Amino acid sequence: MIKFKNNLEDVISRIEKARIAYSRHQIIELVAVSKYNTTEDIQALYAFGQRTFGENKVQDLKIKSEKLDELPLQWHMIGTLQENKINTLLALKPTLLQSLDSLKLALAIQKRCEKNQITLKALLQVNSSEEVSKSGVKPQECLEIYHRIVESCPNIKLLGLMSIGAHSSDRSKIELSFKITKTLFDSLHNAKILSMGMSQDFEIAIANGSNMLRIGSVLFQK
Ligand SMILES: *Cc1c(COP(=O)(O)O)cnc(C)c1O
Repeated sequence: MIKFKNNLEDVISRIEKARIAYSRHQIIELVAVSKYNTTEDIQALYAFGQRTFGENKVQDLKIKSEKLDELPLQWHMIGTLQENKINTLLALKPTLLQSLDSLKLALAIQKRCEKNQITLKALLQVNSSEEVSKSGVKPQECLEIYHRIVESCPNIKLLGLMSIGAHSSDRSKIELSFKITKTLFDSLHNAKILSMGMSQDFEIAIANGSNMLRIGSVLFQK
């Protein structure tokens, strides 16, 4: 798995180059998306210094995080969360739910957090490219829903926005989807995290102000 060392070094140096071009003051967090990978793969990347991993299914997050319980890892949930999986997710104490995608889901999470007297950190997912295949709130509704969650869900610590870039070979379309998300992020008073950028578009995301990347395939390629 020495290949992962090269992958990680290569990704970090690409991030660093894009980061410096954007701003020397920008601090960017890398989440390794391990959804297509085994716990052995995760352990290999851990050995080269990676600590934060993202999964898109609660069941996978449960199996992998329990298997790797001895390691000091942070786990992010990045996929669509069904209401019947909320309790399972909360029991795993994830570091961050990146894919909070409706007020209805937020209210359901709030109820369970209140009952268990716990809090959950989360990002509101925005469908900035307005593709039907994607989850997330519409850009036009984003600010209102964000504020409503802050007001009505005291046990959810909303930290910012997550978005998936436009699925396109047209660079300007990808840029536009990131710019829309950045503008929304900038108008939120206390938002800290702007999660955008994946294997194919993370440099464009950084150029548009992202401070959290979710990268899978280029890190784990063998
Ligand atoms: C799979 C996935 C990623 C990572 O995608 P890669 O192209 O493999 O880097 C990022 N974010 C979400 C929400 C995903 O589902």
